[in-house]
Amino acid sequence: MKRSSRRTATTSQKRHKYIFVVGGVMSGVGKGIATSSIGTLLQAKGFVVNLAKVDPYLNVDAGTMNPTEHGEVFVLNSGLETDQDMGNYERFLNRDLTQHDYMTSGMVYQSVIERERNLGYKGKCVEAIPHIRDEIVRRFEDGAKVNKSEISVIEIGGTVGDYQNIMFIEAARVLKIKHPEDVIFIMVSYLPIPHKIGEMKSRPTQNAVHQLAGYGVYTDIIIARSEMPVDQKRKEKIAVACNLPADNVISAPDIDSVYDVPLNFERDKLGDIIAKTLHLEPHKNAAQTAGLKAWKKFAESVKNGKNGTAKIAKKDKKGVPAKKEVNIAIVGKYFNTGDFVLTDAYVSVLEAIKYSAYALGVKPIIHTVNARDFESRKPNYAALKKFDGILVPGGFGEKGIEGKLAVIRYARENRIPYFGLCYGMQLLTIEYARNVLGLSDATTAEINPKAKHPIIDIMPDQKQKLIDKNYGGSMRLGSYLAKLKPETIAYEAYEKAGWMKTKGRGKDTITERHRHRYEVNPEYVERLSAVGQDGQPGLVFSGTSPDSTLMEIAELPRGTGPGQHPFFLGTQFHPEFLARPLRPHPLFTQFIKAATKKS
Ligand code: GLN
Repeated sequence: MKRSSRRTATTSQKRHKYIFVVGGVMSGVGKGIATSSIGTLLQAKGFVVNLAKVDPYLNVDAGTMNPTEHGEVFVLNSGLETDQDMGNYERFLNRDLTQHDYMTSGMVYQSVIERERNLGYKGKCVEAIPHIRDEIVRRFEDGAKVNKSEISVIEIGGTVGDYQNIMFIEAARVLKIKHPEDVIFIMVSYLPIPHKIGEMKSRPTQNAVHQLAGYGVYTDIIIARSEMPVDQKRKEKIAVACNLPADNVISAPDIDSVYDVPLNFERDKLGDIIAKTLHLEPHKNAAQTAGLKAWKKFAESVKNGKNGTAKIAKKDKKGVPAKKEVNIAIVGKYFNTGDFVLTDAYVSVLEAIKYSAYALGVKPIIHTVNARDFESRKPNYAALKKFDGILVPGGFGEKGIEGKLAVIRYARENRIPYFGLCYGMQLLTIEYARNVLGLSDATTAEINPKAKHPIIDIMPDQKQKLIDKNYGGSMRLGSYLAKLKPETIAYEAYEKAGWMKTKGRGKDTITERHRHRYEVNPEYVERLSAVGQDGQPGLVFSGTSPDSTLMEIAELPRGTGPGQHPFFLGTQFHPEFLARPLRPHPLFTQFIKAATKKS
């Protein structure tokens, strides 16, 4: 008897486990962070976890959506353009995710329709049920195999009751029938405390659970989001109404830092409850993992960062006092939606700044600056004085670029640390060409294909794509190698952080993620990097593609002499996609370090 039960435990352990996270009551209550945190908890128990997002929209990927409406487009190593939640997943897991971890209705329909066109359904009538549903099930199971993980945590976009996500919920139901012991459902719900009533109400959550049950899907665990912790009385009330143990109602009150969420969940023993519900034995790797230790330390540094303890002030041997706070301006254009200012379009950039600041023990204060405010005849440059660092993130098109160029010029001339990401690097180069080399009509072919001085030009392999209007998923996307030049800011930063390959054929290279169609025009590289007659040092291309044809990083030599600068650097790639809480990005760290020293 004993032997056989042990055998069952080991077999069940080997079977892949699926956790579906669904939203109840309303959107925007932190389902993505809850999913990420579940990943962090299970990983801390030694399990190999992958996090996946299914999005109900018909876009085949997130790449064609406007960031003001949909937030940031997060690019994976593979080049897939995904939802910004995928960024949170990678950051919380400290693991690279794959294209199998992201699915949209558009992707599913596209592959079913393609198969139908190829007679793949052998003359059958192709319908949403079973064909679309089964394609989703197939993708869930495929993802589990390809990722070589033990547990998949899959967030279903939208809220229970939406029409759009019904097919995904139906597919999850069928997966549970196929693997009854290995699939559970967690609902992230919301318990309002109406002002006038002053009491936490659980009815909307009960209704959401009942509605899901109406689809044949039974909730195993409820993550109860609210302004306040959920008390025992309400836990019990929800438990009875929703047919689950009171312990399976996890209290998830509002908190200041999203990085405390895994720790809060652990307080209510979410990890153990999941393990019990999924029949998981303690993992054999559990003893080797440091558990949540590293995460706790990081969450603590967030608090220190908020206080600005400025550890580097003590460490800086050159005697330059560091600041306890750094004021960083992000100069962009995707901030305003209606009457609201949202920073969603730049979430990875914001987080990357914070991780480096926390690691340095300084408090990051991030300001959003609308580039268009600097396009008037007399821009208010005095407003830029209060910033210790200026960053221009990625972007597209004409709007706001003259404003960004004006700000970059101000940063260069006034020696304010400047960091340009993708478009921010292209504009850095244009600014340099215009104001240092005197090519006053320097610009990018993106806004003027017939420009006299297209300092930034379309990449040769992109031309035909634009002619064919082949826009979706066709940029230069995903991970590419870049070769670094010794004795530059970039080289030192990556070397110090141990991010550079130091041996073999890939020596002196790094890998970073990209998303662009345009590049520094090779015909101008020599002029841009030439030393001027006045001793002006020229722009240093400290990173290039391994065949030296594509400029990946541009910087001015560090120093206080003519033409030098404390930190004036731009990357053609998006370093923000690789910054993680437990692994701040070396270039962001250098940028923040320079900012803390600005007088
Ligand atoms: N618009 C520029 C390009 O396509 C920059 C893109 C970006 O910033 N991601 O090359």
